[in-house]
Amino acid sequence: MSRSITIAVDGYSSCGKSTMAKFLAKELDYTYVDTGAMYRAVALYALRNGYAKGNEVDSAGLENALDKIDVAFGGDGHVLLNGEDVESEIRSMRVSECVYKVSSIAAVRAKLVEMQRKIGKNGGVVMDGRDIGTVVFPDAELKIFVTASAETRAQRRFLELRAKGDATSYEEVLDNIRKRDYADENRAVSPLRKAPDAVVLDNGNLTIDGQNKELLRLCREKGVEVNGLRG
Ligand code: C5P
Repeated sequence: MSRSITIAVDGYSSCGKSTMAKFLAKELDYTYVDTGAMYRAVALYALRNGYAKGNEVDSAGLENALDKIDVAFGGDGHVLLNGEDVESEIRSMRVSECVYKVSSIAAVRAKLVEMQRKIGKNGGVVMDGRDIGTVVFPDAELKIFVTASAETRAQRRFLELRAKGDATSYEEVLDNIRKRDYADENRAVSPLRKAPDAVVLDNGNLTIDGQNKELLRLCREKGVEVNGLRG
């Protein structure tokens, strides 16, 4: 029998984590969980309900409102905020501008981490985020830490936003990525760190094909059956 393990994919914003995590989940027939989408959904709630404006966040107010916020995933993997599919809206710059402040609130993290542990408790998941290998599942069997330069990531995000008709400039995107990197690495609760036992993949150095092969090799190494091949 192949093992159903827990795979943590952590790293900086827009470094290709979700592409890697989705690929693995599909190949292994595991559940994919985008934890960034959960923080983004809470940030969207804050914006819609007057707890956030630009990048100013009323932490105490939002903390008091947490009971009114339900975050879940629909059957298609889209994130639901109080039952509404907000998958597209959470990717906007408006949300990116305040999400890193929202995600630094300890009570927000406690609520979402508890949910993430519930979703992943039986293994067979690929979870992507910032603190999956360090805090959410420190015992995950396979931990991957993805990096790429801020410029490479900004270019990717810029093209994605432009394709959606968003007029944000490359410089604004790069500035947002740098701000989020800094905030994610320096927040008091669960800062972005590579777990000591994580494998580092530099997304700027690998072709998609090379990257996918390496991911599958790492899985086989952990005893996971991939395309009928193990070990
Ligand atoms: O992955 P993504 O860029 O969509 O995440 C949005 C934001 O959510 C990040 O900038 C970070 O502040 C926060 N986040 C987090 N912990 C996670 C996932 C995301 O703090 N596990």
